[in-house]
Amino acid sequence: MPLNDKAGRLATDQLRVLRASYAKGLPEKVERLRALWKTLRTRNQPHGKAMDDLRMEVHRLAGSGATYGYTRLSGLMQSIEQKLDQWADFPEDATSLIIELDRLFAALREVTLPDDPGDDLQATELVTKRMATDRLHIVMLAEPDEQASDLRRLMRQYGFEISLCSAPECDCVAQLVKAQPDLLLIQEAAYSDSLIESLRNQMEAMPYIMVLASAPHLLQRVEYYRRGVHSVLPWPVDSTDLIAEIESCFANVREMPFRVLLIDDDVELGLYYAQVLSSAGMLTRVVGDPEEVESALEEFRPDVILMDLYMPEYNGIELASAIRQDPAFFGVPIIFASVEKDIIRHIGPIRAGGDDFLIKPVPVPFLIASIETRARRGRELRRMINRDGLTNLLNHVAIEEVLEREVARAERNESPLVFVMLDLDHFKQINDTYGHVMGDKVLVDFAHLLKNRLRRSDSVGRYGGEEFSVILPDTETDEAVHLIDALRESFAGIEHRLGKTGVNVTFSAGLASWKPGMSPETLRQQADKALYQAKRNGRNRLEVWQDKE
Ligand code: GH3
Ligand code: MG
Ligand code: MG
Repeated sequence: MPLNDKAGRLATDQLRVLRASYAKGLPEKVERLRALWKTLRTRNQPHGKAMDDLRMEVHRLAGSGATYGYTRLSGLMQSIEQKLDQWADFPEDATSLIIELDRLFAALREVTLPDDPGDDLQATELVTKRMATDRLHIVMLAEPDEQASDLRRLMRQYGFEISLCSAPECDCVAQLVKAQPDLLLIQEAAYSDSLIESLRNQMEAMPYIMVLASAPHLLQRVEYYRRGVHSVLPWPVDSTDLIAEIESCFANVREMPFRVLLIDDDVELGLYYAQVLSSAGMLTRVVGDPEEVESALEEFRPDVILMDLYMPEYNGIELASAIRQDPAFFGVPIIFASVEKDIIRHIGPIRAGGDDFLIKPVPVPFLIASIETRARRGRELRRMINRDGLTNLLNHVAIEEVLEREVARAERNESPLVFVMLDLDHFKQINDTYGHVMGDKVLVDFAHLLKNRLRRSDSVGRYGGEEFSVILPDTETDEAVHLIDALRESFAGIEHRLGKTGVNVTFSAGLASWKPGMSPETLRQQADKALYQAKRNGRNRLEVWQDKE
């Protein structure tokens, strides 16, 4: 994946730039601290704005210093913070404390060189290796018979790119080494141990391997797994099952990058973590001002929030409680990061709704793993709440929410937006004639088709029953009409098979384009009316809503 490597290197370069800029700014920061300390010392008053400023700056440097590799500086800052607290608590008996603080501040100048430069850079470079690709590249090794080409045609209709390789073994290996597919489907007759062995020796990265075997029994499957095959499906394979299997295997790879919102008053530190996380393939946004948290939550819709515990004005605990009270962000995991090592002090943040607590400096691989795990769990939770059990598409409530959000976005960006309602034709008859199991299978097939043929930024929902909707952001009407019509033709051509029975089903669709000022409700009603028109005009067709003059 050369593109991802490039992105990783780019992010690592940016990390170096951040480090350099931090190093450059450090002497000035240290001098400012020393000046602040001097003022306080002369006044001999451990309260008021000067004291608050000093404590805040010291606290920040403790966190960012450790993160950028200045461990001694960070240690010194933590000692200073502790002594300042003591001074504030017992201002009358401070002579020895002040001498101690003098000594600590004097030592500051010697620690402005990093102690362990750059070990985290290596770690980020490693992590970038496993980033997501967009479209799966599938190769099937099979006898070129009718069943194989049927399957290939069907998979293509669902939107999978799949090529067939039926050359003799040695040519096949050469072709595969060149093609570097993500997924290799091997029909039993084309399988051999030596083939897998050659691939293992010659390929840069092994693809995911599925074997299609006629009636494979348990021990046969075990034998396949031993040889490095990842899954075994029966041949001839049911396309619905195959697509479901592919989806579950590649769900992690194909998922949208995690979105991380970093809330830290020390923007420089926030940017550092953001850089580390984006080099691991995540999307990030840094917010330094609590005032901006709300709009960042709404616009950016993070999967996870990484929050500094101590900030001026509003601390992390208060912010976390407020975020938790908003139903829209209830399920978003919140991770606190702080230099606070005292475990008792973690109780408050956890009670306030924090899901995890990281101690700064957070080692890079640990940071990435914690964020990924939390983000994934958060997504799973929301998936269970937002998804329809049969088709795994967004449910009614969730798709309405997306529509509202997309309308707001179109309004903001002055970008086009298309909304489509789709309804299967004479679906009741399918149930009545072939049974509910066949009906359900058609619904799942339809969902697969929609998901695979649309872009990742599009949204698909099951409105209820056999009614679906599609949201196409940044799409002009003409483009959408072509797309939905092509889908309609593909779907009509798919034969849904259950045992020996096969059936073709069609759908009708109503399309409406958003115009400035239009509410989500109006857009939905227009699409609905266009759909009704499509049904009246004979079904298996698409109608576009037209404004009456
Ligand atoms: P039209 O072309 O006018 O849309 O006709 P239709 O038969 O598709 O429409 P109608 O609304 O009369 O019937 C919808 C049917 O969809 C009724 C119900 O049996 C079926 N249905 C709804 N949900 C499910 C489901 O989850 N599974 C199955 N198998 N059938 C469902
Ligand atoms: Mg219907
Ligand atoms: Mg209906």
